[in-house]
Amino acid sequence: GSSSGTYAITVGKQLRMTPYRYLPDHFSRKKNRLLILADETVASYYLEDVRAAYAEKLPVHTYVLPAGEAIKSFSGYEEVLTACLEMRLDRESAIIALGGGVIGDLAGFVAATYMRGISLVQMPTTLLAHDSSIGGKTGINHPEGKNMIGAFHQPEAVIYDIEMLDTLPEKEWLCGFGELVKHGYIGDQHLLEQLKGLNQYATFTISDELLASSITVKKEIVHQDEREESIRAYLNFGHTLAHALEQTAGYGVLTHGEAVVNGMVFALYVGRRLGYGGPDPAEEIQWLRAFGYSFAPLNQMNPSQILQAMKRDKKNRGGSIRYVVLANLQQPLIATLGDEQLLTYMDAFKKEME
Ligand code: NAD
Ligand code: ZN
Repeated sequence: GSSSGTYAITVGKQLRMTPYRYLPDHFSRKKNRLLILADETVASYYLEDVRAAYAEKLPVHTYVLPAGEAIKSFSGYEEVLTACLEMRLDRESAIIALGGGVIGDLAGFVAATYMRGISLVQMPTTLLAHDSSIGGKTGINHPEGKNMIGAFHQPEAVIYDIEMLDTLPEKEWLCGFGELVKHGYIGDQHLLEQLKGLNQYATFTISDELLASSITVKKEIVHQDEREESIRAYLNFGHTLAHALEQTAGYGVLTHGEAVVNGMVFALYVGRRLGYGGPDPAEEIQWLRAFGYSFAPLNQMNPSQILQAMKRDKKNRGGSIRYVVLANLQQPLIATLGDEQLLTYMDAFKKEME
């Protein structure tokens, strides 16, 4: 990879009031107009601040979509493209994604494809989006599967005003926190220890330093393997099972974060069964349960149904399942597992959990 390391990622408070400070030099001279995309919830809190700030430098359009995953669809995509055409955006224009992963992915895919690609600025507003806004993956869902249509398109800048997290509901916190834990497990022991020291009841405050550490883990992996040909797959830690749990429960029943923490503790267990080190899953469950996560999804999973769902995952090669495990803390590796082996591990882990 190359380009992913070249854009600035800024994390801090109040950045939304002066976003042009965190853009590349000459951005405002080279662009002719901007389109800010947001969902209606984020728009109600922050769109006016952001619009007014950019409007000091450039003509600004805004377009507001309904909140929720449903707009990450062909119809949502077409609707935004129509808006771009009506607003006469061209190759000198830029799209600003102000929102969580849904707006980031949709706006990013529009920016990747409108007139064969225009500039994109990510302004994440959720905890999860500290992850989704980095790395250049954009896309929409197909009725046959999530994130099936997409493109790699790197932003010109990521501007993360974490003051906006103040309005994030608790459910959305738990959704994004799983990715911080993941980045701790696969790449940053100090981050993991800090996360373990957080008290959930202290109203979920996360410092810009912790978020920056978590972003750094992702950024460095993506920088080495932008197109997911090798080590980018480590970012899938916990996700093979998470996707299967989300799918078999029916989308929207589990939060992504809940599914991911369930998937990670099972991956820790698989690693141990394969003879590797890494933390004890039972201890991790204790910590994460105290933080507010439920492990009912693991407890209640139907192994053969889960296996079927895993085998549909677009990340598998051939018939076997590629599973990210930890050889030790911060030492991810990919194990190839047979069907029977996985079924055995799932059954055994469920028994151990009782
Ligand atoms: P989201 O964008 O739907 O945001 C979650 C909810 O929080 C929405 O209802 C939104 O209106 C609300 N919200 C957002 N910011 C807020 C704020 N500051 N205050 C109050 N409410 C706020 O969902 P998400 O969890 O951010 O992202 C999920 C999406 O991200 C999924 O579609 C997933 O596929 C995608 N994703 C993409 C990548 C990637 O690499 N591109 C990685 C992980 C996930
Ligand atoms: Zn995830």
